[in-house]
Amino acid sequence: MSQHRLPDLPYAEDALAPHISAETLGLHHGKHHATYVDKLNNLIEGTDFADKPLTNIIVEADGGIFNNGAQAWNHAFYWHCLSPDGGGNPEGELATRIGRDFGTTDALREQFSKALTTLFGSGWVWLALDPSGKLVIESRSNAGNPLRDGLLPILTCDMWEHAYYVDYRNRKQAYVDAFWKLVNWRFAAENVARGKPFQVQ
Ligand code: MN
Repeated sequence: MSQHRLPDLPYAEDALAPHISAETLGLHHGKHHATYVDKLNNLIEGTDFADKPLTNIIVEADGGIFNNGAQAWNHAFYWHCLSPDGGGNPEGELATRIGRDFGTTDALREQFSKALTTLFGSGWVWLALDPSGKLVIESRSNAGNPLRDGLLPILTCDMWEHAYYVDYRNRKQAYVDAFWKLVNWRFAAENVARGKPFQVQ
């Protein structure tokens, strides 16, 4: 690939309202995500990373190339973790795995929510598969991504202030509640079934 491009949102900008507003999505996707992609394209020009997919950049790069490359992938992944038809509870194989590793989906929601509301500063909370196949909750600061540590991302929530400040100001718990109303368990199940990292097209 010569240039990374900003992927389209998988739904309309107003599709997640009232939980996440069109104003937030317009800024978050059209400005924040777009800027990470633009900066990445400028930084990788003429380097060994120029022709590598984002998943390689996340594992191999450092500094600005890592930060912008990981943020480009993290946001593409995050959009799919939300859905106008989301919420509720997982089904099938994913539900079985959550039951095995957390006891209940409510227990997973409680632990994931606590990780989100207690994350210090900007970052992401991830549901990921560890190398033994166990589902784990992983907090990462800034652009952090568990792929870098050999874990497979299954689901994420963006806990940078730009993800919620327009809609919820400093009320992190209200944003977390909105996340659970939109959560796309089907996408999480696809990531488990694929067994390989999501690729940004
Ligand atoms: Mn963000």
